[in-house]
Amino acid sequence: MSQPDFNNAQFEAALTRQWQRFGLQTAAEMTQQQWWHAVSGALAELLAARPVNQPVAQQRHVNYISMEFLIGRLTGNNLLNLGWYQAVSDVLKAHDVNLTDLLEEEVDPALGNGGLGRLAACFLDSMATVGQPATGYGLNYQYGLFRQSFKEGQQQEAPDDWHRGSYPWFRHNSALDVQVGVGGKVVKNGRSLRWEPGFVMVGQAWDLPVLGYRNGVAQPLRLWQATHAHPFDLKKFNDGEFLKAEQQGIDAEKLTKVLYPNDNHQAGKKLRLMQQYFQCACSVADILRRHHQAGRKLHALPDYEVIQLNDTHPTIAIPELMRVLLDEHQLDWDAAWTITSRTFAYTNHTLMPEALECWDERLVRQLLPRHMLIIKEINERFKKQVNQTWPGDDAVWAKLAVVHNKQVRMANLCVVSGFAVNGVAALHSDLVVKDLFPEYHQLWPNKFHNVTNGITPRRWIKQCNPALAALLDKTLKKEWANDLDVLQGLEKYADDAAFRQTYRDIKHDNKVKLAAFVKARTGIDINTDAIFDIQIKRLHEYKRQHLNLLHIVALYHEIRDNPQANRVPRVFLFGAKAAPGYYLAKNIIYAINKVADVINNDPKVGDALKVVFLPDYCVSAAEVMIPAADVSEQISTAGKEASGTGNMKLALNGALTVGTLDGANVEIAEQVGEDNIFIFGHTVEQVKALKAKGYDPVKWRKKDKALDAVLKALESGTFSDGDKHAFDQMLHSIGKQGGDPYLVMADFSAYVEAQRQVDALYRDQEAWTRAAILNTARCGMFSSDRSIRDYQQRIWQAKR
Ligand SMILES: *Cc1c(COP(=O)(O)O)cnc(C)c1O
Repeated sequence: MSQPDFNNAQFEAALTRQWQRFGLQTAAEMTQQQWWHAVSGALAELLAARPVNQPVAQQRHVNYISMEFLIGRLTGNNLLNLGWYQAVSDVLKAHDVNLTDLLEEEVDPALGNGGLGRLAACFLDSMATVGQPATGYGLNYQYGLFRQSFKEGQQQEAPDDWHRGSYPWFRHNSALDVQVGVGGKVVKNGRSLRWEPGFVMVGQAWDLPVLGYRNGVAQPLRLWQATHAHPFDLKKFNDGEFLKAEQQGIDAEKLTKVLYPNDNHQAGKKLRLMQQYFQCACSVADILRRHHQAGRKLHALPDYEVIQLNDTHPTIAIPELMRVLLDEHQLDWDAAWTITSRTFAYTNHTLMPEALECWDERLVRQLLPRHMLIIKEINERFKKQVNQTWPGDDAVWAKLAVVHNKQVRMANLCVVSGFAVNGVAALHSDLVVKDLFPEYHQLWPNKFHNVTNGITPRRWIKQCNPALAALLDKTLKKEWANDLDVLQGLEKYADDAAFRQTYRDIKHDNKVKLAAFVKARTGIDINTDAIFDIQIKRLHEYKRQHLNLLHIVALYHEIRDNPQANRVPRVFLFGAKAAPGYYLAKNIIYAINKVADVINNDPKVGDALKVVFLPDYCVSAAEVMIPAADVSEQISTAGKEASGTGNMKLALNGALTVGTLDGANVEIAEQVGEDNIFIFGHTVEQVKALKAKGYDPVKWRKKDKALDAVLKALESGTFSDGDKHAFDQMLHSIGKQGGDPYLVMADFSAYVEAQRQVDALYRDQEAWTRAAILNTARCGMFSSDRSIRDYQQRIWQAKR
């Protein structure tokens, strides 16, 4: 498949139509924002008009359903994937407009919280690039993830109105509108059952184009938007029921208003379940419509379609497909089950109990009475199977049941109903089998897989780090952006002093750019010769930003105690949003900001140490921070981070990881070699052993003087204007007897030691640069193209 040619005249003509639509007389009258709109709109128009290369359809079509797609800005990325960046840049230059500046006008579509949503975005990019036929299905939220700012160190949240109504990349396809019901009751319909919803709304399909890398492929990311059904459409429903629903205050427009801001934590809200069902009902209807239009038989659905569930959020698609097959197509249970159970595959993203979704049976029945009956039937039939394997073993059934204690367990429903279950890194997939689902594994050993996550090298090298990309082009003389194993060719240059200098210069230029970004956003000056030590990810206790903070305070004490010692200056940079209701996480943000304030203004410290918390971490902030990182902080408690993908972005861009043996850090360490990474801390086994023994953080504090001094300082009020209780939440969570569930205290001294080694290696700039180059050279396997090929081989195209 070849890339589409850029046609200058067509582009200029489309551009003209754009500014004429604004009611202007000439292009020159456009504001910078209008220019961005016009360029994006013109590109979208050209794309919509041209024939696209369809990926070869001998493969099952993948329907990737995800509540979140953290896509980031599209215009620059699309130009790059089209191969039109330079051509468009030249056209704009003739208008005296700078393309790079223009791209900064785009508001990030932040339709996701963090890693899970970003993974979905990388996977769409890779499916288009490797030619895997796919549709992404999500929700068109009016408000994305909240905007973060700080007021006296405390997180403030503001709504993120990204102006979906005028986003030029959207195409509303009204032919695909879907009606979705909720509530109401189930009635007998001859020998079968029928659901009469109490309320009906309409799902509109809003498509964004997902472009393959220079192969002419375009596939949709289809985001459903809820609106009221016109009463005219409601004829077939009982008017009395409809009015009752109105009185219940169900409001369709509210449904896709806002993204829930929780990451790795279930909220259990009614509106959230409605969102999940709305998305699933629209998507299942769309998949079946496509299947029927192709003239295919229902029973052949799994031969042509896979539905990949990104975590359990879209699990309700399973009983929805069953309902449609049973009630609308009158299939019997066995026929419907055979189709359904060969169509769904489930990706597990977490082992943490607070993130495993459970829904109140009552709530499910109230909103989805027919689905609740189907779930119960699945449960009852599965119970017979469990009874055959473990006769009379109530404890096993209590673990495996789909419905238990009046709760519907979504992960269990996925495992029982799907043909494949995968974890997202080798270690995590192992724990999924051993700790989360051992009995399921005993029942169906071949259902469980690993697919290690990945990231798209188009956005995460080529777009965000153009200087490194140019160096790779020049050195490797081969396309690497869709064949990332080519980076291995870089290995031999690690020993080439001139190459190392060039590589180092690029990193330094990126640090200068980040310093300007920091200055503009925070007013803080940072020394670009310092080590840029970066932790960027959602704020979570398990990710242990507070461990990083404790080390910073320890370093501060060292500098104060011994100002003459020879140390490499350090800048610690943080980017992280805390869920608005996660008060402990917010307290950690506050603590970091307060400590930063004291350190940054201490004349005895000067340039030796700076701490910056950049507000409003998002994809476009990541694109500036990642290319400038020297050190990548990946310090979660072993066993808690399923994979991580930030770790991959940073390693590929030549940051050295300070990390625990957790998630994909394990595989990064295997790839880059132990000399080129700083591994520390308790392993999964050691964490388990420590907890089994009865872990007590107080003991760890007592035996470590530096740690005790750090905690005393935080308790003393010196960082909080004399307020001794300012950080109580954080300090109590780690300091109380029987507390510290994430072993911050137990890993502190090993972390400090790893940081000493960072300092030592950085003094030897040649050795450091060599290690950084080897990180880039050896992380090719973390391309999401490889992840997609693994999904194809192990799950989507595997013999069933
Ligand atoms: C990659 C990415 C993440 C995931 O980071 P982890 O360190 O893997 O948790 C979160 N948010 C954004 C904006 C990202 O780009």
